[in-house]
Amino acid sequence: MRLSQMLFVTLREDPAEAEIPSHKLLLRAGYIRRIGSGLYAYLPLMWRVLKKVSQIVREEMDATGAQECLLPQLQPADLWRESGRWDTYTQAEGIMFSMTDRQQRELGLGPTHEEVITTIAKDMIRSYRQLPVHLYQIQTKFRDEIRPRFGLMRGREFIMKDGYSFHTNEESLKKTYQDMAQAYSNMLRRSGLQFRAVDADSGAIGGSGSQEFMVLAEAGEDEVLYTEDGQYAANVEKAVSMPADAEPSPFATFEKRETPGTETIDKLCKFLKCSPTQVVKNVLYQAVYDNGMTVLVLVSIRGDQDVNQVKLLNELTKLAGNYQAKTVLFLTVPDAEAQRKWAAKSLPLGYMAPDVADDYIAGSKEVNSKFLRLVDRTAVDLTNFVTGSNESGYHVVGANWNQEFPLPATVVGVRTAKKGDRAVHNPEQTLQSARGIEVGHIFQLGTKYSQAMGATYTSEQGEEMPFLMGCYGVGVSRLAQSAVEQSYDKDGIIWPVAIAPYHAIISIPNISDAQQIEVAEKLYAELNQSGIETLLDDRDERAGVKFKDADLIGIPYRIVPGRSLKAGKVEVVERANHKSHEILIDEVNSTLKQWIEAAIN
Ligand code: ATP
Ligand code: MG
Repeated sequence: MRLSQMLFVTLREDPAEAEIPSHKLLLRAGYIRRIGSGLYAYLPLMWRVLKKVSQIVREEMDATGAQECLLPQLQPADLWRESGRWDTYTQAEGIMFSMTDRQQRELGLGPTHEEVITTIAKDMIRSYRQLPVHLYQIQTKFRDEIRPRFGLMRGREFIMKDGYSFHTNEESLKKTYQDMAQAYSNMLRRSGLQFRAVDADSGAIGGSGSQEFMVLAEAGEDEVLYTEDGQYAANVEKAVSMPADAEPSPFATFEKRETPGTETIDKLCKFLKCSPTQVVKNVLYQAVYDNGMTVLVLVSIRGDQDVNQVKLLNELTKLAGNYQAKTVLFLTVPDAEAQRKWAAKSLPLGYMAPDVADDYIAGSKEVNSKFLRLVDRTAVDLTNFVTGSNESGYHVVGANWNQEFPLPATVVGVRTAKKGDRAVHNPEQTLQSARGIEVGHIFQLGTKYSQAMGATYTSEQGEEMPFLMGCYGVGVSRLAQSAVEQSYDKDGIIWPVAIAPYHAIISIPNISDAQQIEVAEKLYAELNQSGIETLLDDRDERAGVKFKDADLIGIPYRIVPGRSLKAGKVEVVERANHKSHEILIDEVNSTLKQWIEAAIN
């Protein structure tokens, strides 16, 4: 491609709409253009990158025996009603764009394809003999994200590879899951990314396995906890660890103390001169179940610990049956406005005890009249602890479970693991923390969808059995941007060679120099012919401008037919380290071939 004929517009200044380096650079270098909130045009350079990433993904998937297909993006609401996800996805979470057609039929724009694929399996797979099967597609997904941001990182329209596998038994599912873990590692390695596979939350589905593939970068929205020995890595949503030991309590007898202005643990511990490990704090949450029932949840946890909302949500989902519900729609810390809807009188916030009375709740058809009381494991073994008194400005000290306060019946593990904690597998190892961008997620689904949608096959024994399923996603467009987030300098993008839009760019310093033009044209034709994807900057611009642009768009090798032509040579500059080489014109092709081979493998 000749730059003179390309839609090639670069910006000198950082665009105001962008916060993180990769987003700024992709906009400045003319790879993407914002069309609306979370909506981007992939311009020609970007599209080449996306095609390369897709191709790497495709090759790795095909190598495992998975088969590519393409499923409809418009999906009938009925399928989502069968799985029970229509209301959650269109209303509660609201992540799915939905619409009504001219026949008044409801449809959604696919955020994911479990429903569609399960329907296909239900119709087409009759016998165990047809299993296992694994289908995947690479396609645009639609999600009405609450906060679209960071360009392609969190768009409302983005490219995903999603795959779904069907099995008769756990062993077969696990095998495909392992194959996928390997394929995903290969994809990311080949794309030139530094990443980590981590244990991930598999939500209420539980199941034995879910892993996320995290590209390591400061701008990542996820926190990863890991140990140096390489034995453990998990998303903080899922991570486990050993909490620090509690210090022995200095309070030997139970009494109520005036503790003015101590509504936080910090202030309380300063005032009482005690350790947060001697405090039981009682945190209030509000859960709304899918049948509309609001439940007020009081979690008692050790004062130095924090509640992990993802773990809490999973516990509350397990308890849904107690409220004739199936799942939790919302989990929040109720603010003053939320409290007004159900509080019978004003709550002693900051001073609540584990036994705060149920008569604070004005129960109704929609609001359960009793607190759901949970105690985290860290608080169970405390003795002579400090906690609230249910009266503002007062705490109690020297309290014990089953003496002053009944121990809540439901013991849960909902504490947040954090950096510096001792690891479970080896207490000598402490957890380290890193930021990550989730680019892939693999998941053993089990029978969640097949059961809900009645998707069964006939087993060897002649029984009707629901399919065991796995699902595997990679954000193709997010992956491409995360490569930039990991690889840039003050001058612009530094693409990993495997996914760069072009391998080389020939920048002609002076387009009125006939010899420069001649050599450039010759190399341009030769390189492209031999498979080295090459741009020709033949614009009528100053050399400095051309070099700046080449650096900004991040093409791995810049070829300059300049002063060294006299010696039959051109200058070749490596983008990554600015190293300059004088290479004989006749050897440019073979040299670049070698470099590219070495960089890609
Ligand atoms: P996140 O927690 O970041 O919202 P998710 O758990 O919703 O991701 P999945 O449903 O597992 O993601 O989707 C598979 C992959 O698709 C993700 O690993 C990610 O790479 C990509 N992805 C998900 N949402 C978006 C988005 N809004 N924009 C770009 N890529 C996305
Ligand atoms: Mg999401």
